[in-house]
Amino acid sequence: MSAGGDGGWREVAAGVFQRRYDPVDVSVGAIVGPAGVVIVDTRNNPREGEEILRDAEEFGVPVVAAVNTHAHYDHSFGNQAFAARGIPIYGHAGIAAHYERFEGPRLTRVQADPGREPDKDWAGVHLTPPTVPVSAVTVLTAGGREIELQPLPPGHTDTDLAVRVPDAAVWLLGDVIEQSGAPMFGSGSYPLRWGAALRGLLERIGPADVIVPGHGEVVDRAFVAEQARLLEEVAAMVRRAIEAGTPVDDVLPPDELAAYWPDWMLRSALRAGSGSEMQK
Ligand SMILES: [Zn+2]
Repeated sequence: MSAGGDGGWREVAAGVFQRRYDPVDVSVGAIVGPAGVVIVDTRNNPREGEEILRDAEEFGVPVVAAVNTHAHYDHSFGNQAFAARGIPIYGHAGIAAHYERFEGPRLTRVQADPGREPDKDWAGVHLTPPTVPVSAVTVLTAGGREIELQPLPPGHTDTDLAVRVPDAAVWLLGDVIEQSGAPMFGSGSYPLRWGAALRGLLERIGPADVIVPGHGEVVDRAFVAEQARLLEEVAAMVRRAIEAGTPVDDVLPPDELAAYWPDWMLRSALRAGSGSEMQK
């Protein structure tokens, strides 16, 4: 984890900015048009969401919308700061259900006993799902700028949403792509399907398009293609283990994958892949 909140807004394509905030080096996007700015992802809690709103004042136009790339806390727990100002929040239509299943119970546990996850600052968080659920490709015009929102098949989560700004050839993809570390198999991830979801997205990404990952520096199409290939190798490993009936702890990951992911994360992919009907 490097960079962080002191780096300021960095223009990664015409009128599209990335800011990397600590904690967790999370990417926040700003799509700036003549009449307003659209913020992509809202950080870890309402206080951090407020900080984004303050930092966006330097664009000199109001914040007219927010978008969540997926349901995870570091990308959406700041939502209530935007909702409090009446700013519409766009996000995958599955976020409310994902909150109920994963984020809600975890938040309740941590709020009751903050010592469980002392690095989280969630005392003031009220889960705030998107006010505008997105269930099909949607083109919105906000701040005078056209923005395309594309719900993705299950991958990093079942709430992944690709944000594309066609006039700037830039994509903000959240954690279906990570640059600062290996893509994370966490709560509610779909290791059997993630690579294929990326492969489908690649068909629409141009060779010179700019891609903003959920964590880390901007990457190009070739980086996405390589991450898709590695994720497909993970899916193949999980399938082999299921077919052979190999217990998760006995699987020997291929060297290439063992070099890219920590062992515990590959085991969690194996558990998620073999343990759930949803994956098939
Ligand atoms: Zn993240």
